[in-house]
Amino acid sequence: MTKISRRGFVKTAALAPLALTPFSISQQAPKEDRFDIVVAGAGHNSMIAAAYLAKAGYRCLLLEGRPIVGGGVKTAQLTLKGFKDDVCSTAHTFLLDNPMIKNDELKLGDYGLEYVDPDPIFHIPFADGTYLTQWRDLDRTYSEFAKFSKKDAAAYRKMLAEFDAIKPILMGTSFTPIGFGKPLNDQLAQQPRGKLWQRRLAMSAWEIIRDTFEEEHCRTFILYMSHLAAEPPDAPMTGRLAYGTARQQHSGRPFPKGGSGVLTQALARFIEAHNGVLLTNKWVKRLMIESGKWENAWAWNAAMVVLIVRRRRWSRRFTSSIWWTWPLANCGARISSRVWTPGRRNMRCS
Ligand SMILES: Cc1cc2nc3c(=O)[nH]c(=O)nc-3n(C[C@H](O)[C@H](O)[C@H](O)COP(=O)(O)OP(=O)(O)OC[C@H]3O[C@@H](n4cnc5c(N)ncnc54)[C@H](O)[C@@H]3O)c2cc1C
Repeated sequence: MTKISRRGFVKTAALAPLALTPFSISQQAPKEDRFDIVVAGAGHNSMIAAAYLAKAGYRCLLLEGRPIVGGGVKTAQLTLKGFKDDVCSTAHTFLLDNPMIKNDELKLGDYGLEYVDPDPIFHIPFADGTYLTQWRDLDRTYSEFAKFSKKDAAAYRKMLAEFDAIKPILMGTSFTPIGFGKPLNDQLAQQPRGKLWQRRLAMSAWEIIRDTFEEEHCRTFILYMSHLAAEPPDAPMTGRLAYGTARQQHSGRPFPKGGSGVLTQALARFIEAHNGVLLTNKWVKRLMIESGKWENAWAWNAAMVVLIVRRRRWSRRFTSSIWWTWPLANCGARISSRVWTPGRRNMRCS
């Protein structure tokens, strides 16, 4: 394997003491200061990328600026002593459709990851004392909508059936790297009802919800799920978000046993087990490039994930693995840039 020398850069990182490592991150300095890949920031997206790289035999160094790895996907004591909170992410609905979990590609169960699948899926109490609950059982959920409107209950059933029919295409493109498959629009164009779906995806979530449901509680319930992506649901092109409730009808809202952060904890263990090194309290201030130019570099939104590798042929599979992580990254970038900025205080663990 080609060795990359970034002596000054890595040595400094390796020798500085670690201040706080609540998860099982190595406290030791790396045995040798040579890595194939340096990753700036250890959010779950960069950790997944690094895990695949490590699995492929590349030696990875992850430098995380905060005291805990995981970015928005971590669990820490933020309130009362003895209570653990998910810092941002809780439910891993979308991630479970990702081949990493779906096909158990990294076998993260061996590193402590186990999912809990709650039923009911979602419960919303309204200000007037009523409530609507989504259960895994469709008929039971249908009855919940029917409490408010039989017509809307039927509309929900129809929405679900329509979404189920198109779901393989929507999910398939979500987890296909750009350039490795037909774009969504092209695929939809070949479907019998493809034009309808192209139109729906171009509309706003609110337009779809307003046209599909008539009763206020039912509309609010579906709209709430759309809003969870932190996109204004009346913005054009958010139509897909109207189907958030339908999407989780079958997949639920699973979360890791022990909290959302158990995912990144498991990834950290995986990376370490594959000869990688994770260092916390290491803000990357600049990137040093030996040859004076970038080679095979990616830059990712919120995570500021930059992968640096020397001349190397990237296999199709390897590149795919990286891109499979994009949906959450995309979501996080928007959230963290517009609504919530993690502060040092939020992140501290006692
Ligand atoms: C309130 C809230 C609730 C959410 N709920 C859910 C949910 O239930 N389900 C869900 O799927 N998603 C949820 N999300 C979204 C999810 O948390 C994000 O999509 C995810 O955290 C993004 O991951 P990331 O790896 O791309 O970036 P981040 O999690 O932002 O990680 C980036 C990491 O890089 C580090 N870093 C940045 N710059 C540097 C640097 N220069 N040097 C060193 N380190 C650096 C940061 O400290 C951080 O650890 C929620 C988000 C928020 C804010």
